[in-house]
Amino acid sequence: MKDKSHHMDAETFRQNGYALVDWLADYQQNVADYPVLSQLKPGDIRNLLPPQLPQQGESFERIFEDFKEIILPGVTHWQSPNFFGYFPANNSAPSILGELLSAGLGVQGMLWLTSPACTELETHVLDWLADSLGLPETFKSSADGGGVIQDSASSATLCALLTARERVSRFDSKENGADSRFTAYCSDQTHSSMEKAMMIAGLGRQRLRKISTNESGAMIPESLAEQIRSDREQGLIPFFVCATVGTTSTLAIDPVPSIGQICQRERVWLHVDAAMAGTATICPEFRYLNDGLELADSYCFNPHKWMFTNFDCDCFYVADRFELVATLSVLPEYLRNRATDTGEVIDYRDWQIPLGRRFRSLKLWFVLRHYGTLGLQHHIREHIAWAVELERHINDHPQFELALPRSLNLVCFYHRKGDEFSKNILDTVNASGKLFVTHTVFGGHYCIRFCIGQTHTTLQHVMNAWQFICETAESLND
Ligand code: PLP
Repeated sequence: MKDKSHHMDAETFRQNGYALVDWLADYQQNVADYPVLSQLKPGDIRNLLPPQLPQQGESFERIFEDFKEIILPGVTHWQSPNFFGYFPANNSAPSILGELLSAGLGVQGMLWLTSPACTELETHVLDWLADSLGLPETFKSSADGGGVIQDSASSATLCALLTARERVSRFDSKENGADSRFTAYCSDQTHSSMEKAMMIAGLGRQRLRKISTNESGAMIPESLAEQIRSDREQGLIPFFVCATVGTTSTLAIDPVPSIGQICQRERVWLHVDAAMAGTATICPEFRYLNDGLELADSYCFNPHKWMFTNFDCDCFYVADRFELVATLSVLPEYLRNRATDTGEVIDYRDWQIPLGRRFRSLKLWFVLRHYGTLGLQHHIREHIAWAVELERHINDHPQFELALPRSLNLVCFYHRKGDEFSKNILDTVNASGKLFVTHTVFGGHYCIRFCIGQTHTTLQHVMNAWQFICETAESLND
């Protein structure tokens, strides 16, 4: 006797899908009403969940009710217009719909063969972006380079590092792989993913040199050149530099043209990490951020930070795709197929660490077509203009001080009463749930970092947040 199916039938899926989309549409409209930072204590969510999974399947209505009752209070609302912490991870309606399609199709695009559209749309969209952001021609698939979507900037850095390691091992060492003399360079402000990549690549964090930075947090190229020189003298093998366009702490811009010249001279791989700031280059007036990129071997930025594309989506470009593929490709018999054998197609499994991959270009394609270049420019310009406005208010305030001049959409500032007081302000405003800001320590000060990049944020949200910060400071003064 045949058991009845436990799958959700098409009609029930349709009704539940409508209900879920309705809920999400309302959520987008009302997200400002939720406390931005979840107010729960550790363990609160788990205490409400049954210790074992149910024996009998449950209805969608019950699951969805529990989502609203149990899960939602434990959500920090990244899409709130009052979220100004870290860097944004913004999204948009077209992105969510593209993601839904991707889930619905359930494509696993490891090979061209396993869904030609998954591969070809990705190549095409990344070439579009290379043009629209003014990236060098070398990064396009029409040249020797090309772009690929990674899950994160951390993965992009790791892929770049591994490829550079293989390049240098061919030149400088008898064996492929790690050599204890291989030495990499970044600044003391570079994202921690660089250190992690060194650990994963088997090179060790002690072989990562953290070059000193100037008063704006940008790498000092003379110090880089000096460190490379001294390492060579000691018999070490410099092979990789990571420059950052928009550091995590203060959005500092490393001088890529000078760093690139050093890398060319020293025959060292240059990777440029523009995780958040890269999106700004959609506007011609911010394209100076790409200066020196023609000297880079690889580059990445995250549409999942500031380009209205929901997490995860990192665009990773290389100037020589053959080196990347040579580093990451293994072809077992069970993946062999005629298209791969012709050498005429891209198999993106060879451009990343995992084998399997999602149809991520779909959501990016939806976003780029929905907004168009002009729409994206409009919103990026607004975010930056509002940061200019906030900077002006901070400058005019007798008690608050800018830690350094604003960079793009990020403003870092502190209270003159000192670190403890600034920290107290931050903790108090975050505990209120009315807004969310995070901190950094820069120039000897504990600073409040205020980053403007959420989809639903308006100038009014920014001004309300600023007013609340000022009122909190006054109330703590009393
Ligand atoms: N690089 C920079 C400059 C960042 O600011 C961040 C995260 O904020 C990362 C890399 C890591 O990003 P991901 O989460 O995509 O790995």
